[in-house]
Amino acid sequence: MAATHAAAATEAAVEGDHLLSVEGVDAYYGQSHILRDLSLHVEEGEVCTLLGRNGAGKTTTLRSIAGARPPEVREGTIRFKDEDITDRSTEDVSSLGISLVPEERRVFPNLTVEENLHLSDVARNWSNVVGRDVSMDHPGMSTEEVYEVFPRLKERASQKAGTLSGGEQQMLAIARALKQDTDLLMLDEPYEGLAPQIIRTVEDAIQRIADAGTTILLVEQNAVAAMNIADRAYVIDQGSVVFAGDSEELRADESTRERYLGV
Ligand code: ATP
Repeated sequence: MAATHAAAATEAAVEGDHLLSVEGVDAYYGQSHILRDLSLHVEEGEVCTLLGRNGAGKTTTLRSIAGARPPEVREGTIRFKDEDITDRSTEDVSSLGISLVPEERRVFPNLTVEENLHLSDVARNWSNVVGRDVSMDHPGMSTEEVYEVFPRLKERASQKAGTLSGGEQQMLAIARALKQDTDLLMLDEPYEGLAPQIIRTVEDAIQRIADAGTTILLVEQNAVAAMNIADRAYVIDQGSVVFAGDSEELRADESTRERYLGV
């Protein structure tokens, strides 16, 4: 059954006109072979989720797409907007419109919310000065637009980021990604460590970002929350796809949920 899903995922990734396609990727940390012939694709305008247990290879998949090294991609191809980005640097990948919000929610704790958001503008202006084609050359949302998505951040504009709650820091990390021109927003476990009520606030914001047309690839441990907002889901186990289908299909597939997600 899992082999069927993997084969279908490969076929779908290779065929058709996708925003992102990952085709038969093998990725390693040194000698450790982590992603094994992994294929998936993301369509423009959808919310796609990548689920799986701890250590399944979800973060490794996002890092492989984003050009972050390690891991090392030794086999397979990653395409974005028809360009082969397999061996591109993180700067190149980001300049094409892919943003990754990593699990550790990178914000500058000693700067205020507003300063954190303005730093993206500073980086953009600086890159114009030095003439390098980096992501910040492409303006994304203005600070006011970001505040419309996250009204909570506007209320906290002059507060130091380090004193924000976990949920607010998550919002700020996502907000900083939106200040770049983003066609594909990759979120690594945005709900981790958040109380259910805060998860709903972050979930609403992600939904609003998706409704505004940004394509999202969402990695989550919280499969139930992820399935709430995702159109399609992949489940990976030991670095390979074991389920590919609509969120509805996954909800109905009790054996996959129990075996690979524990829900
Ligand atoms: P989690 O939900 O726990 O974050 P994950 O599905 O995102 O899990 P990965 O972080 O992709 O899993 O890890 C996949 C495997 O790769 C794990 O066995 C992990 O120990 C290993 N791994 C991750 N990062 C490194 C690294 N820098 N060096 C060596 N091995 C690593």
